[in-house]
Amino acid sequence: MKKRFYIVPLVLFLCSPVACRDKAAAADPEKPAAQAKVEGQATKTISMEQMTWPDIKRTIESGFTTAVVAVGSTEQHGPHLPTMTDARIGDELAERVARKLGHALQARTIEVGVSEHHLAFAGTISIRAETLSLVLRDYVDSLVRHGFTRIVFVPIHGGNFATVRRAVEEARRVHPGTDVTAFTDLPGLGDILIRMSAEYGVSAKEAGEHAGENETSMMMALEGGLVAADRFAPGYMGPFGDAEMRLILEKGMSAITSNGVLGDPRTASAEKGEVYLERLADFLVSKIGPKTTD
Ligand SMILES: [Zn+2]
Repeated sequence: MKKRFYIVPLVLFLCSPVACRDKAAAADPEKPAAQAKVEGQATKTISMEQMTWPDIKRTIESGFTTAVVAVGSTEQHGPHLPTMTDARIGDELAERVARKLGHALQARTIEVGVSEHHLAFAGTISIRAETLSLVLRDYVDSLVRHGFTRIVFVPIHGGNFATVRRAVEEARRVHPGTDVTAFTDLPGLGDILIRMSAEYGVSAKEAGEHAGENETSMMMALEGGLVAADRFAPGYMGPFGDAEMRLILEKGMSAITSNGVLGDPRTASAEKGEVYLERLADFLVSKIGPKTTD
């Protein structure tokens, strides 16, 4: 029998309309008493998905007017890393970047991206560049409405960079009073990743473009329980330049690597991963720079 897949909308029946009205009358979410109670929580997290709207509103009004958003992907990362890898690393980096920038909140990470070249491998979910572009545009429109005056996108998956760059230019035209920015220097990102690994004696080929020593180390630091160390194996280790990149984009990752890896994860470690994450966040902050509008 053919398997069928259904998309099930998640509907939360928290209360009936009548009960909701009664509760709303009983507790004004913006009352100072409620504020005192939640203020402690608000200082613990800067991640809006973990906060309530009154906390977010008050925090923006108190001067937290920058929103940081990671743009990740859901795609194969070899036989040893979960498909969440780019989204998880991006999420962590966005949080660190927001803390380092100061007066910033983190908005929910965009967890799927343009990953068509990974579709030969099970579990990859790819959205079209046009779809990502619309999602980015809607993120900006929503965040501007809440009072954010600076929106920073942090793409971490190479396939998203060009779309993010175009979407940022478009958003700047639509919202001239808002500082919309993104780190979109893909060669610059590759360069810092290679340099960090080189300090541990790891070659550029091992550090890898995809699921190699570098990404594997960061995932060991973040989600050690999801990393299958017993499956560490090298993937494509040949030269990697424009010709290889073109081949991947035209024919997919499977044209160059049978296990989905570009690099070699065997020297990865959680200790290195933590160092990489922190240095990468510092690097991103230095490139993103200070705000350009009031
Ligand atoms: Zn990745």
